[in-house]
Amino acid sequence: MSSNSIHAKAALLEDGWAENVRFQLDDGRIAGITAGVAAQGGDERVDHLVPGMCNHHSHAFQRAMSGLAEIRGQGTDTFWTWRDVMYRFALAMTPDQMEAVAAQLYVEMVEAGFCRVGEFHYLHNDRDGRPYANRGEMAERLAAAAGEAGIGLTLLPSFYAHSNFGGLEPTDGQRRFINDLDGFEALLSQCRAIAAAALGVSVGVAPHSLRAVTPEELHAVVAMAGDAPIHMHVAEQLREVADCLSWCGKRPLEWLLENAPVDERWCLIHSTHLNEDELDGIVKSGATVGLCPVTEGNLGDGIFPAAALLENGGHLGIGTDSNISISVASELRQLEYSQRLASHQRSVVARQGCSTGRVLFAEAQRGGQAALAATTDLVAGAPATFVTFDTAEQPWLSGDRVLDAWIFSESLRPDAVWIDGRQQVASGRHLRADAVAHRFRQTMSDLLQQTGLQ
Ligand SMILES: [Zn+2]
Repeated sequence: MSSNSIHAKAALLEDGWAENVRFQLDDGRIAGITAGVAAQGGDERVDHLVPGMCNHHSHAFQRAMSGLAEIRGQGTDTFWTWRDVMYRFALAMTPDQMEAVAAQLYVEMVEAGFCRVGEFHYLHNDRDGRPYANRGEMAERLAAAAGEAGIGLTLLPSFYAHSNFGGLEPTDGQRRFINDLDGFEALLSQCRAIAAAALGVSVGVAPHSLRAVTPEELHAVVAMAGDAPIHMHVAEQLREVADCLSWCGKRPLEWLLENAPVDERWCLIHSTHLNEDELDGIVKSGATVGLCPVTEGNLGDGIFPAAALLENGGHLGIGTDSNISISVASELRQLEYSQRLASHQRSVVARQGCSTGRVLFAEAQRGGQAALAATTDLVAGAPATFVTFDTAEQPWLSGDRVLDAWIFSESLRPDAVWIDGRQQVASGRHLRADAVAHRFRQTMSDLLQQTGLQ
């Protein structure tokens, strides 16, 4: 289903809310925007319309273990005990299963108002650890799933070679992630071929973390990026900071900012544990901080000082990372609530007189665009990508209150979603949700048997 023109009672344009806005679409793009005009016959009519949100960080296969790693084990449950369960899924998953799980995930993302996902993809090899005959096998499955859901995809193939700082040998549990530089270059060129053949797919690179990549390998992988996005996990866990200090006498972000060409291309995923100098260094670099507030809360990572970053002119975006739950609203709400809990204040990221929802949305939208080198602003020539809200039952909501109601109360949720001029969601439901969910149910039944988690 698609429409050549959409009329919104109000739309959040580049410079703020405008009323009675008519969008003309052509070949998946916005051909023209006119504010202050009545709807014309044939227009698709909506109440409130906002840009789509970029989800800058996802590991699609982890959607399969959502809700299945919440039983406390012996001793202290941590990120590292969660990782053991995650490895069981990683070692089990076939290409068909990857596609089914990713399709379900991406449908949920589109229903939530995400229009593009950065897939930080590290499940490259067959289950025995050998590369697939087609090195891009899993990346192709991710692209197929994104095509089915209609979501934009930035493939971020991850270079992963070691089990810890200092180039330690990988463990057997990591065998599906591992590449050498030649293998990675071949994979990257496969990903670029996939992007060239598919609508809405682009490619960056993702050196996994300083744990998994030596300085020489990092240098080589960054050189392969060109102008494309570079994503890397950094300083998520205190143990990672301690291990980095033992390895080189520097903290992870401190080392990275001194030794890598960190700039606007970079998205520093998590960056949870940093000091003022490191925060200052990130701001000066122009990099985006890739926050994943729900996952960081789920894994007990810690609280990133988001308010301080924004006050200093830094950039942030949001990602769903472990995909424990899929919601633009939850990510932004958790981001703000963690700041409130840490500071004993309210409305922490907002400037005086501003709506907190508006600031959260605008900052994450801007950072997400930078992190995925994508345009989601509602401007002529941009992709016709929108999220709409039906406010008929809550007519007192208008302007920024729509964003606040969505993010903080979820009394409003996305009603319709268009991506690249094609409607994917109507009345809150993805148009292919039933078929995708059916395949996902069958896949989960098989996966639970394979992992012994029945
Ligand atoms: Zn991650």
